[in-house]
Amino acid sequence: MPLDGNAIGGLLHEVFGTEMTDAVATCGTCGASGRVAETVVYLRVPGTVVRCRSCSAMLMVISQIRGTSCVDLRGLAALDPRGDG
Ligand SMILES: [Zn+2]
Repeated sequence: MPLDGNAIGGLLHEVFGTEMTDAVATCGTCGASGRVAETVVYLRVPGTVVRCRSCSAMLMVISQIRGTSCVDLRGLAALDPRGDG
């Protein structure tokens, strides 16, 4: 059962050092953009996978490796923390 971006608000805050659920993420695959809060999130060991709601492409992968959060943002065309597009 997938969650949404709100479920990882705390994790994203830890990784980016700021509130990210209101940030606007643009998919590098289909170009859709939307709030991080509205992405599709799968919590999986050892990583958290964030997928595009439009095309299901992987936007972000957040892995915990030896206590450090490693973030793969390759699926994103843009990530705007200001949330104004
Ligand atoms: Zn997409």
